[in-house]
Amino acid sequence: MEAGETVIVEGAPSHALGIVESGTVSIHVGELEVADRPEGTWFGELGLLMGGRASATVRAREPSRMAWFDGEALDAFILAHPGAAGRMLFRISEQLASRIRTADLRSNEAPPAILGALWSGVARTVVRVFSPASKPVETPSAAELSGVPGWPVRLTAPLAPSVRVARFADGELVVREGETTALSDSVWLVADGFGLVVRGGESVRMLGRGDWFGLISWAIGTERSASVRAAGTLRALAIPFGAVAEIERSHPEVYVALLRRFAAQLATDAALYNARLAPRPVPAAPRPVERVTLTSYGGWQSCEAERRIVHDVDQARAALAETRGHLVTLRSAGLSFDQQALGTDVVLGLSDLDTIRLDSATGQVRVGAAARWGDIVLALDGTGLMPPVVVSASDATVGGTLSANSLSRFTPIWGKEGKSIRSLQLLSADGQVRVCSRQENPALFHAAVAGWGSMGIVLGATYQLKSVPVPTRVCTRVERRPDLEGLSQLLLPSAGADETVYALIAFSGGAPRVLLSRARYSPDAADTMLPHRPASPMRVPVEWAINRFAGAGQAFWNFAYDYYVREDRPYVDELSGYTFFQDGNVRSRDTAARIGLDFRLVQQAFVIPETIPGLLERFILEAEARLRIAGFHTALVDSLYLPPDEPFALSSTRDGGGYAVTLTYEGNLDFPKLVLELERLSADLALEGGRVHLVKNVFASPDVMCDSYANGLAQWRRAKAEWDPEGRFGSAFLRRVFGEGAGQR
Ligand SMILES: Cc1cc2nc3c(=O)[nH]c(=O)nc-3n(C[C@H](O)[C@H](O)[C@H](O)COP(=O)(O)OP(=O)(O)OC[C@H]3O[C@@H](n4cnc5c(N)ncnc54)[C@H](O)[C@@H]3O)c2cc1C
Repeated sequence: MEAGETVIVEGAPSHALGIVESGTVSIHVGELEVADRPEGTWFGELGLLMGGRASATVRAREPSRMAWFDGEALDAFILAHPGAAGRMLFRISEQLASRIRTADLRSNEAPPAILGALWSGVARTVVRVFSPASKPVETPSAAELSGVPGWPVRLTAPLAPSVRVARFADGELVVREGETTALSDSVWLVADGFGLVVRGGESVRMLGRGDWFGLISWAIGTERSASVRAAGTLRALAIPFGAVAEIERSHPEVYVALLRRFAAQLATDAALYNARLAPRPVPAAPRPVERVTLTSYGGWQSCEAERRIVHDVDQARAALAETRGHLVTLRSAGLSFDQQALGTDVVLGLSDLDTIRLDSATGQVRVGAAARWGDIVLALDGTGLMPPVVVSASDATVGGTLSANSLSRFTPIWGKEGKSIRSLQLLSADGQVRVCSRQENPALFHAAVAGWGSMGIVLGATYQLKSVPVPTRVCTRVERRPDLEGLSQLLLPSAGADETVYALIAFSGGAPRVLLSRARYSPDAADTMLPHRPASPMRVPVEWAINRFAGAGQAFWNFAYDYYVREDRPYVDELSGYTFFQDGNVRSRDTAARIGLDFRLVQQAFVIPETIPGLLERFILEAEARLRIAGFHTALVDSLYLPPDEPFALSSTRDGGGYAVTLTYEGNLDFPKLVLELERLSADLALEGGRVHLVKNVFASPDVMCDSYANGLAQWRRAKAEWDPEGRFGSAFLRRVFGEGAGQR
């Protein structure tokens, strides 16, 4: 390679190990140069071992010569020379382990410093001390061993006599941070259940079936870098370090197979760390018109469409004229879980319309439709004024959330987003820009808020702000409740209160337990809770595990219920951390895409009418049980009170207040079956007067949806006939949810 030439591009598929024969290559994460690899070293091990994507860009610093070793060559090498291959994999594991260890030690520092350590820290500290093992362990049966993923017979047979199985109760300690390891100590494999990796007071990673832990101490002989506790009941297999060393001598081919697994685990850990800290890639500016494939946030639905990006109202008007006869779907940040921002014809996005203007005299803010909520909160922080309702993802835009009439954890006391909208500007199908408010064009106003882009293009809006203390933080008190008894009463905020209330429900063996939170704005000194620490480099590994393993979400929240959340003191969170607590989820999705891992999500929210006593509690119990019996682990159930809304046509609380219950399912599950189950649940709830909330996924038949939204739908159809008679605006979502041609006359 010539100096400056690119060898590997970050994010591209990468399945080969590069060995620098002469010269030097440099490693870059985003725009940041993080390390050098001189002659005699290697690069590309993360991609090779994980079989995924390159987590960094590699460039020749000077004229360099390199040799490549791909997956097939590695397999052939392993077969032909297991002893040498074992030594090579050990060196790779050792390096990965010491890099992770060095990065861990610096985890309180700025992301570039941690990244630098992750790529270049190669301190070798082989200090092994002897001490006796403590937990009584037993030998596993053959059946027990063969049930573990990634544990084939050729591995189990020679290793079986050395393997021990240990069972841990919820919260029980498996290994302790800081403990000095001994040769009698072990590497561990999760056979069943979940383990939570805890460093300091913080949960940093979740382990599920087939994950290894204890590898850093095994590879570099230091003290344990973190504690591992059982989250729920955990069954783990232990292989003493001494047995690993013994197997190297007696069965080199088994040793090398084992090391390949160890190295792959370390590579995955390092890649997750890396992708989480890497500066977010700046996407190339989209072309004004191009054919693209777009995907829903949940990852289950996608479409091909002609995407047009416009920069001002004249361009938007011109785009409408040029696409006459076509259905226009509006799309902003594309964070919709379902098909709300997907269409198969023309998909239109706004760029630049992102101004944020505060009018202190009126306590209002005027914002462009493309303004991101993260920027709005940042701009208002310190002014003593905040929008009453802000969604939990900072990338979401005004145009997108206004069209969803979003809700937040403050909705129980302050209503949905629409309540604070004073007016909006809308470009209608006839090319006119109209100001809509409760006084001016009220029918259009009430159809455009929660209108899913069906009434025209929202160009901007004015919101009434609430007074908040400065500095602006959020104080939360958490209470544990052993069951659902009285939940509907507990979720009702006191009249005129400035404290909101919401619940998170964890299921342990079918039994619900409630984490009830009461939160209010406060100027107190920060003392944060993990889910509200977006800057924590560890959010991604936890979120990723929850997405990957069925049952991990509930295990995590049960662990939080039993050990992690404290009732004896309030938490005080920074404004952005508290508000945008789902940014970790967005980051995990981006991270997974970056390193070639799958990330799938289904969230469906239901509205339970407040007028039917006991229905909330019964619905939560039945929903979880039905889905469990159908084979689905509900990763999370959360609930809060929704006060009655104004007559926004498609608002889920247009005709009365209720409780939102959101069910979350993560990972690559049986999607058609889950859809069927959610459709059945929606139909049964509709019989009792409940309905499906339109934000998030909506799996319910058009008949059920048309019935439960009958009044609002009639109002929306009248507005549609008046303001969009040709049916220019719509999406795959509206057509599916309310039936073909939902918006047409
Ligand atoms: C991580 C995460 C956290 C979330 N948290 C919350 C939450 O706390 N509360 C909540 O209620 N929801 C939440 N949501 C859902 C989210 O608020 C909605 O999906 C929202 O609509 C996304 O906004 P967006 O800018 O991504 O819009 P998109 O997904 O691009 O579009 C959303 C809808 O708005 C329409 N639209 C977009 N721009 C315009 C425009 N300029 N004019 C007219 N119509 C337009 C689109 O056609 C589409 O129907 C969350 C979603 C995610 C992924």
